[in-house]
Amino acid sequence: MIYNNSSTINENKHVDLIIVGGGLAGCCLAWNAIFKGLSIVIIDNANKNIASNVAPGLFNPITGRTFQKSWKADTLFPFLYTFYKQVENVTKSRFFFQSNILKPFWNKEEYHLCSKSNMLDDDFINIIHPNTKNTSMNFGGIEIKKSGFLDVKKFLNATREFLSRDNTKNIFFVKEDFYYKNVIIKHNIPSISEINSKNVVCDTILPNIGNNSKGSEYIVYKTTAPIIDKKEDRSSPKWFIAKNIVFCEGVYGCFNPFFTNLAFRPVLGEILNIQICKNLKGIYNRDVFIFCKNNKIATIGSTYKRLEYSYSDGLNSPVFNYGRYELSKHTFNKSPESIMSELKTTLCDVEKLNLIHKTNRLLKACGRESLPQADISKKVGIRPCTLNRRPILEIHPKYPNMGILNGLGAKGISLAPYFSEKILNKLFS
Ligand SMILES: Cc1cc2nc3c(=O)[nH]c(=O)nc-3n(C[C@H](O)[C@H](O)[C@H](O)COP(=O)(O)OP(=O)(O)OC[C@H]3O[C@@H](n4cnc5c(N)ncnc54)[C@H](O)[C@@H]3O)c2cc1C
Repeated sequence: MIYNNSSTINENKHVDLIIVGGGLAGCCLAWNAIFKGLSIVIIDNANKNIASNVAPGLFNPITGRTFQKSWKADTLFPFLYTFYKQVENVTKSRFFFQSNILKPFWNKEEYHLCSKSNMLDDDFINIIHPNTKNTSMNFGGIEIKKSGFLDVKKFLNATREFLSRDNTKNIFFVKEDFYYKNVIIKHNIPSISEINSKNVVCDTILPNIGNNSKGSEYIVYKTTAPIIDKKEDRSSPKWFIAKNIVFCEGVYGCFNPFFTNLAFRPVLGEILNIQICKNLKGIYNRDVFIFCKNNKIATIGSTYKRLEYSYSDGLNSPVFNYGRYELSKHTFNKSPESIMSELKTTLCDVEKLNLIHKTNRLLKACGRESLPQADISKKVGIRPCTLNRRPILEIHPKYPNMGILNGLGAKGISLAPYFSEKILNKLFS
């Protein structure tokens, strides 16, 4: 909850960790920090069109045409199960659902190849033979175990609600834009008068200028919209003084001035929601996926469109326009309308029809009815992908208490729990 009243400088707060961005990465990091007993603040502008709000939330340990285990599946999957269940227990809400994924074979040859293969991992895969009683799949298929979906929106809401509930534990959620220029890096805990001093000009600590900061120990961040400390009923704090800071801004991390050499390759994605006649049990996935999170509303997806981007000419890239539209509607000259019309050219109806066509093919192979002619709603987001398809987990070369957790790409649900724990270990070891 945000209150825009001014607060005095006495109300600054000491925390172990500032987290910039409260999407999937930031929230998983927050929980791992809380489980370790650390005090934290998440600063997030509650942007609605972030990847985490769009993601249907599938987690799937099997990948590719030959149905092989995905990268680090043996480590990531046990970890994510324990993690999300633990968060469900603490928040007393339900957002983690296990459900097998069904992948039909397209033809007899595929069935024969797979049933003879000794490459398939029994821990994760069952082969479903055609003509068995319980399947309507024409040529059989595979059933992926240890998969399912996270209701990401519920997970984020439960996390934000938990963080905003009780500020006495020194855990905070501050809803505002994070300004990089409001970061100060100090060797010692700054005194109140020092922070308050008019001599401290925040801009002087932008990364390319802060030459003296090697070995710095404190990150000081000035918030612009102080929150109310509900217990004490007074506004707090104006400054956060932290031992560490981790950036988790998703695709907006492309423009983080502290980490300018990261190999992002943002990928735009769309999902469709459509009202269907009969509830669909389980998750069907081949080329596209379809499953029902809510009663009779099927989610279908996703498209996958790489966006050209480079840090230096980012000003003209669609990613930047998207970011600038979402983050800074009021500060930039370009009108939101013109930015949206640019974006629409990337989100045309051909792709929608293509998704529907592929879904009907999948449903047919599974012996299911085609999609009805019904209203379809579309959601769009940008995946923070990287060139090497691996997450970004970096400590700043000059500032050892500054890190970044990003690049979760198309697999945030399975990567975020484990890698947020890893970056904490790097920072606090
Ligand atoms: C169409 C689509 C389908 C997907 N499907 C799946 C799927 O089924 N399974 C899966 O595992 N993954 C999926 N993904 C990928 C998944 O959504 C991402 O990996 C994950 O959500 C990334 O989380 P994040 O926290 O890094 O980024 P984000 O979700 O973008 O969150 C970043 C947060 O930081 C905030 N922020 C950024 N800059 C600032 C600032 N300056 N000030 C304040 N706040 C700031 C943003 O507002 C946002 O809240 C999908 C993505 C898309 C787009």
